[in-house]
Amino acid sequence: MSLIVQKFGGTSVADAEKIRAAARRALRAQQQGNQVVMVVSAMGKNTDTLVDLAEQVCDEPPAREMDMLLSTGEQVSVALVAMAIHDLGGKAVSLTGGQIGVRTDSSHGKARIQSISTERMRKLLDEGNIVIAAGFQGVDDDLNITTLGRGGSDTSAVALAAVLGADMCEIYTDVDGVFTTDPRVVAEARKMSNVSHDEMLELASLGAGVMHSRSIEFSKKFNVPIHVRNSGVFTDEPGSIIGPIAESESRAVSGCALTKSEARITVTGVPDKPGVSLSIFERLAGVNVAVDMILQTAGHDGKADISFTVIESELPRALEAVQEAADTVGADNVSHESDVSKVSVVGLGMATQSGVADRMFRALAEAEINIEAITTSEIKVSCLVLRDQGLEALRAVHAEFELGKPPSQRASFEDSLVATKKAKEADAVAVVSRLQSMEDLTVHGVALDDRQSLVTLTDVPDHPGISADVFEAVAAAEIVVDMIVQGIGANGKTNISFTVPQGDCQKAAEAAGCVIEKFGGRTAHQADIAILSVTGVGIRSHTGVGLRMFRALSAAGINAELVSTSEVKVNVVVETARGKGALAALEEAFADVIG
Ligand code: ASP
Ligand code: MG
Repeated sequence: MSLIVQKFGGTSVADAEKIRAAARRALRAQQQGNQVVMVVSAMGKNTDTLVDLAEQVCDEPPAREMDMLLSTGEQVSVALVAMAIHDLGGKAVSLTGGQIGVRTDSSHGKARIQSISTERMRKLLDEGNIVIAAGFQGVDDDLNITTLGRGGSDTSAVALAAVLGADMCEIYTDVDGVFTTDPRVVAEARKMSNVSHDEMLELASLGAGVMHSRSIEFSKKFNVPIHVRNSGVFTDEPGSIIGPIAESESRAVSGCALTKSEARITVTGVPDKPGVSLSIFERLAGVNVAVDMILQTAGHDGKADISFTVIESELPRALEAVQEAADTVGADNVSHESDVSKVSVVGLGMATQSGVADRMFRALAEAEINIEAITTSEIKVSCLVLRDQGLEALRAVHAEFELGKPPSQRASFEDSLVATKKAKEADAVAVVSRLQSMEDLTVHGVALDDRQSLVTLTDVPDHPGISADVFEAVAAAEIVVDMIVQGIGANGKTNISFTVPQGDCQKAAEAAGCVIEKFGGRTAHQADIAILSVTGVGIRSHTGVGLRMFRALSAAGINAELVSTSEVKVNVVVETARGKGALAALEEAFADVIG
């Protein structure tokens, strides 16, 4: 018999009528021969209302009491859903997180799941019940109620599907599926039939906001297919499947996203030696600030500049920490801008197709949008732009990659299920061991590519079209660019660094040099550098990864010249001669989580 998990978000259980509709849907699935577990969120905006109430009685509500309060929202929903099922003649039992045995750590408000017991659920299912589980909550070792963080019911649902070995986790919501970009801001946005885990992880963190990103980590780690669909649609119209494969193999870009409220901090005149950037990022981690686009210029006169983005709401906290670090290490200056947004394109196909970055830069140039900073990873290109041009930038990029049009060749629902099944079979043993510590960071491995070279362009005029010109010239010379980092500059100038295969170094430097020479820019290249990468699941949601990496390199006395981070990977560039040493240091640093 197959088992499915159906998760209903707040909008899908917002009133009595919707609760009855959800109950009917679950009963129908059961009548079709499935065992059914429902995971339910708090009704409508109930959680917001509770947060509001708490703030009215207390300036800084204790985290433990906040979880006690917020968990009641889900408790209301599960009871009502169970009643609705009884009323329709079905059998159902509602359970809180604690009653199921969802064990978490004790970090209230952002608890991570450690284990889930299945006995009680199995027994109820075997007796013919629909099990209705409260999403978003668990208990710690002392039975204190914990919550997983806002939007965490998605994560509860996929985690339950994982431990029960469910065939499918359906996520019912108020949209039709996962779109190429936010349909509320780009009218041409199109629902995708399939989205790959890695794309979804990047998109969720890029601000697409459809799913709690930790749920995607579970889906990937435990091979649970997710079907995102609209609870309001009465036909069985399919939504989007999140699984191992992308919608189309032929497309380099699958989706794009805008994160509006970014801020950038730049530290100039940082002593260019190992461990200095570490001390800055350590301070930021110490005050719980997640750092995003990291730019680091190669040193001059023994000094380097470091620049990175943070979420705007965390800027005050970040600035304070950075200023302290800058004083300690003896940096010249700390500055910031808070009127920036980040537009990004994502696609699994990008890993094998070139020409994405320069097309994106050209599209922005044609819309007369200046790029303030660039970072790339294997499946993502991100550009920082001024906030008042953010929406225009998103629309320009969506149009450039024709995301509104369906791809000619498209993967089907079944393709994704077959791929998931294969992954599941290949991975069966590892999956069982991962269930022991469900939500821990999993690192697949550390890799070294020591046949790379680095081209650095300095004093490049900072105006629209320069990056487009540079990377079009490099592409015209038939050179494949891997990492691109652009940003940091002063007096209307900027710097661009990128990596190319060793044999192409000279040619790439010449091609790029031709473009910038006429503006007085300078070109330099290092024919042999190494790129180290750490890949895994939960790389960014476990904020410690970048830090661990910096710490290991610094302890080995190795300087990171360039850094790029994404949801599934962190890359750093070091001198080739230090490549093997860096690899050994990183392997040791991640030994406990490689699996
Ligand atoms: N009710 C919780 C929230 O609003 C959890 C969820 O809906 O996923 O954040
Ligand atoms: Mg949600």
